[in-house]
Amino acid sequence: MLAGKTAIVTGGTRGIGFSIAKTFLENGANVAIAGSRKESVDKALEKLPEYRNRVMGIWPDLCDPAAVAEAFTAVQDRFGRLDILANNAGISSRTSLYDYTVEEFSRIMDLNVKAVFVCSQAAARIMKEAGGGVIINTSSMVGEYGQPSGCGYPTSKFAVNGLTRSLARELAKDKIRVNAVAPGVTRTDMVAALPQEMVDRISAGIPLGRMGEPLDIANAYLYLASDLASYVTGVTLRVDGAAMT
Ligand code: NAD
Repeated sequence: MLAGKTAIVTGGTRGIGFSIAKTFLENGANVAIAGSRKESVDKALEKLPEYRNRVMGIWPDLCDPAAVAEAFTAVQDRFGRLDILANNAGISSRTSLYDYTVEEFSRIMDLNVKAVFVCSQAAARIMKEAGGGVIINTSSMVGEYGQPSGCGYPTSKFAVNGLTRSLARELAKDKIRVNAVAPGVTRTDMVAALPQEMVDRISAGIPLGRMGEPLDIANAYLYLASDLASYVTGVTLRVDGAAMT
């Protein structure tokens, strides 16, 4: 579905991002995995030996426009084009308002929102020149409902939805589609550390009766990245088993 295309996946070293990168590779794309450190990027690349010729790693500071532009240009130089940007890197916390520091709030907003802006700007500049592209952002179900602690995280995901909708309208004339995927509770490293009893309780509250798997989210990314979604822009696609909170 993505043969000949080139994608950058931020936060692609593990969890949902790694599954997006692998799914894109399986569907014929060249992929650049962006992580925070060379070591974690190298570890992710080691798990994809069969795609050695179509995958590379980058590790710019995602909030630094010059570093991001340089890394994205390196991807374009290696694969000759840039068609898809997956803004997936994100961090969360559940600190109560009374204990929340300005530093923690800024740390969440920097990676979850500012980095999405910086990376989208760098990618859009390249895509516009080439005649189009696709940007997909990882939102969250809490970007619709909020959450009862850790206010910075849901706030950041509401912002991601706003950025998605706004950039979709602004960039449509440049043939760049911009969408988001809003996962529900998804079985990544973070969830794997929870006791089984808690996993069962969370799953029982989800109408489809189970947590999301990273591949459930990656498949939504695949659809939005592909030409099957050529008339879809500005949406936040919920992939949460109809979970409500
Ligand atoms: P994860 O912690 O397994 O992966 C996070 C990724 O972000 C990693 O690849 C990590 O290297 C990268 N990252 C962290 N800090 C970074 C930094 N400073 N610079 C660059 N990269 C950095 O988490 P995940 O569950 O796979 O989450 C991926 C995305 O999905 C996030 O945006 C998260 O908010 C969203 N999400 C996850 C869930 C869930 O239940 N797992 C639910 C809704 C939304």
